[in-house]
Amino acid sequence: MPSYKAPTRDVRFIVNEVLGLESHGFAGGSADIVDVVIEEAGRFASEVLAPLNAPGDAAGCTRGADGSVTTPAGFREAHARFREAGWATLSAPEAFGGQGLSDVLGFAVEEFMSSANQAFAMYPGLTNGAVAALLAKGSVELQRKYVPRMVSNEWLGTMNLTEPQCGTDLGLIRTRAEPRGDGSWAITGTKIFISAGEHDLTDNIIHLVLARTPDAPEGTKGISLFVVPKVLVDDDGALGARNAVSCGALEHKMGIHANATCVMNYDGATGWMVGEENKGLAAMFIMMNAARLGVGIQGLSQAEVAFQNALAYARERRQGRALTGAAEPAEKADPLLVHPDVRRMLMDAKAFIEGMRALYLWVGLQGELSDKSADETARQQADDLIGLLTPVIKGYGTDKGFETAVAMQQVWGGHGYIVENGMDQFVRDARIAMIYEGANGVQAMDLVGRKLALNGGRAIQALFALVDAECAAAKAEPRLADLAGRVEKANGELKAATLWFVQNGLANPNNAGAGAYPYMHIVGIVALGLMWLRMGGVAARALDAGAGDAAFYEAKLVTARYFGERFTPDAGALRRKLEAGSEAVMALPAESFWFG
Ligand SMILES: Cc1cc2nc3c(=O)[nH]c(=O)nc-3n(C[C@H](O)[C@H](O)[C@H](O)COP(=O)(O)OP(=O)(O)OC[C@H]3O[C@@H](n4cnc5c(N)ncnc54)[C@H](O)[C@@H]3O)c2cc1C
Repeated sequence: MPSYKAPTRDVRFIVNEVLGLESHGFAGGSADIVDVVIEEAGRFASEVLAPLNAPGDAAGCTRGADGSVTTPAGFREAHARFREAGWATLSAPEAFGGQGLSDVLGFAVEEFMSSANQAFAMYPGLTNGAVAALLAKGSVELQRKYVPRMVSNEWLGTMNLTEPQCGTDLGLIRTRAEPRGDGSWAITGTKIFISAGEHDLTDNIIHLVLARTPDAPEGTKGISLFVVPKVLVDDDGALGARNAVSCGALEHKMGIHANATCVMNYDGATGWMVGEENKGLAAMFIMMNAARLGVGIQGLSQAEVAFQNALAYARERRQGRALTGAAEPAEKADPLLVHPDVRRMLMDAKAFIEGMRALYLWVGLQGELSDKSADETARQQADDLIGLLTPVIKGYGTDKGFETAVAMQQVWGGHGYIVENGMDQFVRDARIAMIYEGANGVQAMDLVGRKLALNGGRAIQALFALVDAECAAAKAEPRLADLAGRVEKANGELKAATLWFVQNGLANPNNAGAGAYPYMHIVGIVALGLMWLRMGGVAARALDAGAGDAAFYEAKLVTARYFGERFTPDAGALRRKLEAGSEAVMALPAESFWFG
C-alpha cells in the first residue's frame, strides 16, 4: 500500500524563504501562520485523506436506481472533517465566511489534498472555482444566497460546459434556457462528464451551467451562464423542492474513480442567470482559469506522491551492483538507488516537482499582488504573468506530471504494474489532468494564439526581462553560474521561437498551430529555470550564513545543477521542431494517413 507524507519542509522553504511571503504583508503570510497551516494541512492530508485513496479507487462511486450517487466509504466523514477543520474556507473572502488567508497557502493546501487523494480534492476544488465565478459576475442576491454556504462547503459546486457534441468547441452548446417571466429560467438539455454532478457529500449541489437563451446569436457569442441548484432554496435560505436536474448515469473511467463523473439531465430545471445574457463564456472563464491552475497542481500532486513511493522502493529493493563496485558488499546486491539510470528517473522527478511547486506558488503570489499591490505597474505585471503562465502550469505541468508518474512506476519495474502496489493509480489519476479543463493542445493554442499577442506581447516580454535579470545576477554566484548560463540560453531559444511566430505565424496560422505545443514546453522549461535560479540563490546564501539544515540547501543546489544540465537543453530541440513549421504536419491528405 503506498504512503504519502506532505512535503511541508519544501513548501515552507518556498513560501517563507524564496517568496518571502511575510514581507508582502498579506493576511496569513507571516512565517508562524504559514508553518502552522502547512503542518496541519499536511497532517490532515496524510492521516485522513491518503488512507481513503486506494480503497476509494477500488470501490468507486455508485449510482442508485433513483439517480442518487454514493461516494466510497469514508468520503462523507472525511468531507465533514475537512469542513470542521476549516480547510474549505482557508483563502475564501472573509465577507462570505472565509478566513481570507493568502492564495499561496490555499494553493499549497490544494497540492497536499490532491496528492493524498485527487478524487476527494476535486469536490471542494471545483467549488472554489464556482465561488470565484459567482463573486465576479453574480448578482448581490445570488451571492448572498449561495456563496457563504459554498465557501463553508455546506454545499458543493460544479461546472457544466460539456455536451455530447461539444467539448473544446463551446460554440456548439445546445442546452436551452427559456425565460419564465419571474426572473428565473427553465434550463433543458444534457451535459456529460460533469465532475461531482451528483453525490452524497452535501445536501445541496450548486451547478453552474452554460446554456443558450431564445434568439441567442450562434456560436460562443450566444452563451449565457446560469446557477441551477439541485434543491431549490427559499428566500429565507431553507431548502425547498427538488429541482428538475438529475444524474442520468455515471461514467466508467480510467482513474479518479472516487469522483463522480456524471451525465446530467436538465428537464426544465429552474435557474438564474449569472452576469449578462450572452456573456456567459467570459463568466465561466473565471471559473475555468481558477480550475486550470488547480489542474496544473493536480499534475504535480500525482508526480509527488508517485515520487515518494518510488524513492522508498529504490532505497529498499536490491538488484545488481553499482557500476563502480559494490556499494554494500555485505549484502547480496545493492539498492536500486545506486544505478545511474534509476537516479536519472528520480532526479528528473525531483527537479520537475520542486521547480513546478515553486512556480505555482509564485503564480499564487502574483494573484495576491494583482489584487492587493499598491503599485499599479506591479498589479499589471502580476496579472500579465498569471495570464501567460496559467496555460503553461496546466499544459506543461500536467504533461510532466503524468510523465513523472509513469517514470516512478518504472522505478518499481514489474511490481509497478501490479495493482496491489498502487503505483498504477497515480498514473491513471494523473492522466485526466492532461485532458480536462481544456485539453493540453488547447492550452498551447491559448498560450500562442491569445496570450502571446495580448497588449503587444507585454507578458512574454516581462518574462524575458525577469529571466534575464535573474541570470545576470546569478552569474556572480559561482555555484549558480553554470545554471545561469544554461537558463539564459534557454531564454534565448524562447525569444527566437517567439520571433519566429511573429514572422511566420501570422502569415500562415498553421505554423502557430503546429508549433504551439513545443512552445508551451519551452516556456515551461524557462519558467522552471527562473524558479531554480531563485531557489539556488536562497540555498547558497543560507549555506553561507551557516543556517541549519545544510543537507536540505545542498540538495537544492545539486538539483538546480541537474535541472540546468538535463532540462534546459531540450529548449533548443523544441525550438528546432517548432521552426520546422507546418508543411510536413499538414501535407498528407486525410485519406493518405493509413494504407491497410
Ligand atoms: C473525468 C472527466 C471529468 C470532466 N469534468 C468536467 C466537468 O466537470 N465539467 C465539464 O463541463 N466538462 C468536464 N469534462 C470534459 C472535459 O473538459 C473535455 O473532455 C475536454 O475539454 C475535451 O473535450 P472533448 O472531450 O469533447 O474533446 P474534443 O474537443 O473533441 O477534442 C479532442 C482532441 O482534439 C483536440 N482539439 C479539439 N479542438 C481543437 C482545436 N480547435 N485546435 C487544436 N486541437 C483541438 C483536443 O486538444 C483533443 O486532444 C470532464 C472530462 C472527463 C473525462
